[in-house]
Amino acid sequence: MNILITYWQTVRLARDELRNAGAAFVLFEHSGKWFELTTLQGNPKRICGALKKTGDRCRSKSLHRGGKCKFHGGLSSGARTPEGKARALEAMRKGRVRWLAERRASFQPVRTGAQAR
Ligand SMILES: [Zn+2]
Repeated sequence: MNILITYWQTVRLARDELRNAGAAFVLFEHSGKWFELTTLQGNPKRICGALKKTGDRCRSKSLHRGGKCKFHGGLSSGARTPEGKARALEAMRKGRVRWLAERRASFQPVRTGAQAR
C-alpha cells in the first residue's frame, strides 16, 4: 500500500517529532529558501538563511530585497553602474555553468522551465 503525503505534511510530522525531542527550533531549506520551524508555532516562517561566520544560518525574520535581512544584503539596491551590472550578469552566467556541471557530475536531472516536471 502506498501512502502519499505532501511536503508540508512531512514538515509537520518532523515538527511533532522534534517537539517531543525538546528542540527549540528547526531550520530547513526548500527550493533555495530557508524556513524556521519553532516547536510552538504551527507554520514555518521564512528566514534570512545567510551563512554566518560561526557556520550557523541567520535566523532573522525581518527580510528585505531578495529575502535577506538588513545585515546580509537586504538593503542593497544592487549594481548601479553599467560595468557593475555587466559584472553581475557575468557572475550569474558563471554560477549557472558551475551549478550545471555539479548537477551533471552527480547524475541528477536538470529541470528547465520548458519541461512540465
Ligand atoms: Zn541575515
